[in-house]
Amino acid sequence: MSDCDSLFNLALSGVQKLVPYVPGKPIEELQRELGLTEVIKLASNENPLGPSPKALAAIHKALPELTLYPDGSGFKLKTALAAKLKVETNQITLGNGSNDVLEIIARTFLSPEFNSVFSQHAFAVYPIVTQAIGAKANVVPAINYGHDLNGMLKAVNEKTRIVFIANPNNPTGTLIEKNELKAFISQLPPTVICVLDEAYFEYMDEDKKADSISWISEYQNLIVSRTFSKAYGLAGLRVGYCVSHPTIADLLNRVRQPFNNNSLALVAAEAALNDEEYLQKSVQVNNQGMKQLTDAFKALNLKWIPSSANFVSVDLNRPALPIYQALLQKGVIVRPVANYEMPNHLRVSIGTDYENQKFIDALTAALK
Ligand SMILES: *Cc1c(COP(=O)(O)O)cnc(C)c1O
Repeated sequence: MSDCDSLFNLALSGVQKLVPYVPGKPIEELQRELGLTEVIKLASNENPLGPSPKALAAIHKALPELTLYPDGSGFKLKTALAAKLKVETNQITLGNGSNDVLEIIARTFLSPEFNSVFSQHAFAVYPIVTQAIGAKANVVPAINYGHDLNGMLKAVNEKTRIVFIANPNNPTGTLIEKNELKAFISQLPPTVICVLDEAYFEYMDEDKKADSISWISEYQNLIVSRTFSKAYGLAGLRVGYCVSHPTIADLLNRVRQPFNNNSLALVAAEAALNDEEYLQKSVQVNNQGMKQLTDAFKALNLKWIPSSANFVSVDLNRPALPIYQALLQKGVIVRPVANYEMPNHLRVSIGTDYENQKFIDALTAALK
């Protein structure tokens, strides 16, 4: 026991204080545990449509090259992204998922003397990447589950190097209005990097989307990150990216592991990026499913946090864990969010019509 303690105490104090990230329960694990054949997972905000056929074809084509290292510069994917986003390739940094991008940013700009600022109920990766390098997390209480931008501005001090904003936020789905967001960024000191995490950008209503990438020319301290894990349906391959001023991209590239994107991920992401039909279908299925779920919540007299993403957090008005467990028994995996200080909520990813109905039926039964 004391051996374990002395080993534990070798770690950075910020690491000792971290709570390990708890992912959504894997389908196979629940099948093993309960001997269920049909299990539905609405727990990790994954695209319910399966991957784009174009991405699958690109992977097949690339398989014979697996003995070779991937293109460490990600030239083709960056070129495709640059064309689509109307930026230069030297503004793009690729990551093994956007979580990797967030970590690269933290390692580039934070050290134990500095802090990052983010909101209560914000994405769990922000404290992880901050505390893992011994920097301090400056967490600002949320207002009505959303970012308190004025509070966040006040929390910025001379030791702040990064502000993380998730828009929409996970696990709340809350959205910051684009003019308010721009006003916030404009008021940040130029010595503070603003990381705007837009993992759910593609799901947002067109009129609510901020033209955030174009703001980079005005605010050189702005980094916008996005991912192929959600609307592009490639969570298992791990591809994300960020767009920034070229100087920032150059710095991030010094920290980035040389081959952080595998070769299959690179070709699949490039193919998925150009599959407009798949993207549109994904958004359409999401909009329908969001209505299906929120209509059901209304019928069950449950409140939910209005969401601009591909999931919704519902308030069960009682501890959510027993309901989560009852849903597991029925082969439905959703996400408890007590670790986000939301013990009465469950976060449900939008699935197919069939999956959503399975969840609604199981929830209705579990609440009785
Ligand atoms: C899902 C998610 C990500 C993306 O993670 P990947 O590493 O790209 O799979 C990033 N930010 C938020 C807020 C998310 O919910």
